[in-house]
Amino acid sequence: KEELNIIQGALELRTKTVEDVLTPLNDCFMLASDALLDFYTMTDIMQSGFTRIPVYENERSNIVDILFVKDLAFVDPDDCTPLKTVTQFYKHPLHCVFNDTKLDAVLEQFKKGTAVCVCVRVCVFNDTKLDAMLEQFKKGKSHLAIVQRVNNEGEGDPFYEVMGIVTLEDVIEEIIKSE
Ligand code: ATP
Ligand code: ATP
Repeated sequence: KEELNIIQGALELRTKTVEDVLTPLNDCFMLASDALLDFYTMTDIMQSGFTRIPVYENERSNIVDILFVKDLAFVDPDDCTPLKTVTQFYKHPLHCVFNDTKLDAVLEQFKKGTAVCVCVRVCVFNDTKLDAMLEQFKKGKSHLAIVQRVNNEGEGDPFYEVMGIVTLEDVIEEIIKSE
């Protein structure tokens, strides 16, 4: 019975998309890129319980980095270190994971114009199937991806809109808890 559920869940990865399992942007625990790693911020991070924390610039939809909690090992809250110092030190290599576009083209599109940010955002489209997502997580070094969709609802040009994040855990959970 249990095994059947898992097989069922695994099969559903081909039809379900990351949009079905993502954590919406509004629910994401994130940090502003100009934050100071003082006692209060560090306490906040620890209490959030998350291992990977998206870092945004100006607005929450503009994610420019990922902070790993383990990056804080050498940070003393008394120093009030700027978050940027830490993210610029580690510069975690993040991979773009579009399933339907060639990687080099995607890299060009999504590379941030700012010289500050060497990192490329981890991006997938909202309709990326979960089995493709799992493959990307297996291949890449990151277990968290930023989910975006093409917004062409308004008058103006279509633009990429960040919807939230998806982690390996979200995909695995979909396999295990399948009814
Ligand atoms: P790990 O288990 O590897 O230590 P974690 O507990 O921080 O990591 P995950 O296990 O990857 O997080 O994910 C658990 C759930 O929390 C998932 O639904 C994921 O989308 C969500 N999640 C992960 N990071 C964040 C975050 N920074 N803010 C909000 N939700 C998050
Ligand atoms: P994260 O990717 O969430 O930052 P991590 O890189 O420390 O965490 P995992 O991604 O959970 O670790 O695991 C990556 C691989 O490293 C797995 O094969 C895991 O078994 C192995 N691993 C994790 N922690 C240790 C450890 N302390 N010693 C040896 N191997 C480990």
